[in-house]
Amino acid sequence: MARLYISFYLSVYIQKLCTFARFKNENKMKRFVLSIFLIITVLISMAQPKPVKNVILMITDGTSTSLISAARWYQTYLDPTQTTLNIDPYVCGLVRTNSSDAPIGDSAPTTSCYVSGMPSQTGFISTYPVATDHDLVPVDATRAYQPLATLLEAAKILQHKSTGLVFTCEFPHATPADCSAHTYRRGRYSVIIPQMVHNHLDVVMGGGVSYLKENYQNDLKNEGYSIFLDDINGFRNCSKAPVWALFGESHVPYRLEADPQTTPSLAEMTRKAIDLLSKNENGFFLMVEGSKVDWAAHDNDAKNALIEFLEFDKACGEALRFAEKDGETLVLILPDHGTGSVTIGNAKSNHGYDKFSLQELMSPIDNYKLSNSTMAEKLKKADTAEWPKLFETYFGFTPQPAEITYLTTACDYPNSSIPEEQRRQNLSVCKMLSQIIYGRTYFGFTTFGHTIENVFLAVYHPQNDILKGVPTNIDVFKYLRGQMNLTDDMDKLTADIYAAHQQVFDGFEVKIDSVDKYNRRLTVKNKKNVLVAESFNNYVMVNKMRVDLSSVIVYMDKTNTFYLPKELRKYLETK
Ligand SMILES: [Zn+2]
Repeated sequence: MARLYISFYLSVYIQKLCTFARFKNENKMKRFVLSIFLIITVLISMAQPKPVKNVILMITDGTSTSLISAARWYQTYLDPTQTTLNIDPYVCGLVRTNSSDAPIGDSAPTTSCYVSGMPSQTGFISTYPVATDHDLVPVDATRAYQPLATLLEAAKILQHKSTGLVFTCEFPHATPADCSAHTYRRGRYSVIIPQMVHNHLDVVMGGGVSYLKENYQNDLKNEGYSIFLDDINGFRNCSKAPVWALFGESHVPYRLEADPQTTPSLAEMTRKAIDLLSKNENGFFLMVEGSKVDWAAHDNDAKNALIEFLEFDKACGEALRFAEKDGETLVLILPDHGTGSVTIGNAKSNHGYDKFSLQELMSPIDNYKLSNSTMAEKLKKADTAEWPKLFETYFGFTPQPAEITYLTTACDYPNSSIPEEQRRQNLSVCKMLSQIIYGRTYFGFTTFGHTIENVFLAVYHPQNDILKGVPTNIDVFKYLRGQMNLTDDMDKLTADIYAAHQQVFDGFEVKIDSVDKYNRRLTVKNKKNVLVAESFNNYVMVNKMRVDLSSVIVYMDKTNTFYLPKELRKYLETK
């Protein structure tokens, strides 16, 4: 729109310029020319979108594009007045989500790329990948295992914005970890948890009470954090950051199975996070993940995948309403990859698919009261004689005897009469359940794993400067980086805060001691100065005095290297 105005005003003034000669007075003419340049300058500056103050990055984990329309129809089935999703007006493209060495992405490397700019490998959390003989992007072998600064870290360290993470998985899980930790092994929670605890996050809301051990609670309390563990009243009454609020021993229950009296929805956590973070006049960076769409899709549990996605869409509604009102907030919404290709249309609908009513397509899942995973645990603990009753209670149908026999051959069924080694290649009870339960519906899936498909992109930008088309995950990062006015700063930040200790302390006496299985202590000496750094902490001791850091110290065992701020060298050069 601004560009249209410019064209309009330019044409008007060009017409006036054409009548230049009519001016008799030379001063009047000069003033006229000057005013034209001033107006053009102002209009052109108005046309350039200015950097946004706040960024809300919303990731729906493992959400196949096919799931979106199934979820929208399910929403309409539940409430005929609800015919659109919150994301619908903002969908503007598809995103390519490959890893550095594989076309089908995984959670750790895909979100790593969105927030740090480099496609990585399965398991890698915002860490530079290792070169292979089948890379899909150029990989510099000399940078393998280097931690990469994330947009969240840049927002915090360079722009003094507040930062937050909201999710439904356990907090050290891949996507929240991608924003705030660095490792090549996503499952190594013992190195991810201390990084997240020490990374000066202002708001952490999601699952994983049992992962926040007392020593980490104490570290947070010492830094002024409020902590609410399965405490919905404390969470609701909390009026200021910094805060950690966790629900569920390991993760937030599926919404279908959650008690709304004790467990907030993703939308409520998102609204609370925005309330707390938006108090910072420098702005904020918030990542919100609908974590368990992926989990349900891996189990081919269509009902829970749909419900979890609709819960995510409600959280998007919260973010979009805030952004539209605020006028300085960018909201970027996308999955990290597809999972399962959950859709409606399977072998049962090879013929007559165009005759089924919405009622016929959706009503089979009406009586499904549990997730496949929870039902699987119930079956494993019960005698097979009790199974028909469990199916009737929780899924509203009686299984065939052959289906019960089939379930007893699952690889993880503890009371099977078949030797374990003969069942090792079989599916789990949970995945067999999907075949039995969803075999009675019109839902279809292509895999229990991830898919190669491009994922949807939705963007709200206050000045309508939208990323469109089929960008790569690198393009998504570059767009966010540009909108945050960090274009030249990200590589420099990585070099500044994640410099290898061999370079930082070149020429000094360096010793690395083992503290425990994953933790190391670095001791550096120069003349009378001694610096001691411990892995995954946010301070160093210099001559027994504590020096606080704005980043965390990362130790990578693969390179036996500490990655830390290069400015630490100066503490050893004085005296
Ligand atoms: Zn994922």
